[in-house]
Amino acid sequence: MRAVVTGGAGFLGSHLCDRLLKEGWDVLAIDNLITGAEKNVSHLASNSKFRFLKADVSDPLAVDGDIAYVLHFASPASPPDYLKHPIATMKVGSIGTLNALDLALAKGAKFFLASTSECYGDPEISPQHEGYWGNVNPVGPRSVYDESKRFAEALTMAYHTHHALDTHIIRIFNTYGPRMRLNDGRALPNFVFQALSGKALTIFGDGSQTRSFCYVDDLIEGIYRLSQSSEHFPVNIGNPNEMTILEFAERVRKHYQPTPRLVFEPLPQDDPKRRRPDITKAKRLLNWEPKVDLEEGLIKTLDYFAKEYQATQKATTPA
Ligand code: UDP
Repeated sequence: MRAVVTGGAGFLGSHLCDRLLKEGWDVLAIDNLITGAEKNVSHLASNSKFRFLKADVSDPLAVDGDIAYVLHFASPASPPDYLKHPIATMKVGSIGTLNALDLALAKGAKFFLASTSECYGDPEISPQHEGYWGNVNPVGPRSVYDESKRFAEALTMAYHTHHALDTHIIRIFNTYGPRMRLNDGRALPNFVFQALSGKALTIFGDGSQTRSFCYVDDLIEGIYRLSQSSEHFPVNIGNPNEMTILEFAERVRKHYQPTPRLVFEPLPQDDPKRRRPDITKAKRLLNWEPKVDLEEGLIKTLDYFAKEYQATQKATTPA
């Protein structure tokens, strides 16, 4: 039983590799390391069931041997990352998804697409359920991610209906945890990096926009359950505990002494005002709901970031 995880050296991809190995799978992780890092899977280097291949899934993709599952997680996912790599983001969502689907088809494997709550754009309804078609600006700065993921969903459904491929689609809401990149520009790593380097935390806009943060272990549990299910339409996985970004910054900054200041900066264009998953479908189909409380998840993640920060400081301090 061998699975291919594209984006296997990324934040979510690497946690997924860990979980699949625990479930008894052989795993081939493919990553071009554009935003992932080999250190995320270095603990698996001596595991004979694990292999890492540095390759871009947007290039023609050939893998020898049997494969039972292709899980497509390759993509820049933080707004600053996909704004920095707009074409690569669109390529991996389109050509990369096509290549991953063709690999699954050629091998008679199942296929799993990591999609996103960004498919809902700046939503006019809250919470967002899977039947909502979204409010996406097709030519705005975030469109490179939103539209390529929407295309990826459409392509996945086409392979399911036209080729009878066994496919699954998850819409992932904001997730946090160890192995996020400290400089990936998302709210939590940004706040922590600022706190650790003695700077003020940057709140974009007035901080009244909302997000709902899911701890990575809960998300991986949801992914695994969906991967084993018979559901082919998209399923939201995320934590419905919604809060404003200002509240979230407060939750983070109380962990640091002296308490960092807050500074307000302009809100990026098309930044979604509200985001909260409706997880009724995941509860019903997968008997899944998040278990890890924000404080518990934050403590683990801040501990990880503190170690990462120390390591980068050591690496940049002359001996
Ligand atoms: N944000 C912020 N300060 C930062 C980074 C992000 O206020 O230093 C805000 C951002 O504008 C958004 C929210 O935090 O409203 C979540 O941003 P993130 O980049 O984590 O992901 P998104 O949910 O927008 O994809």
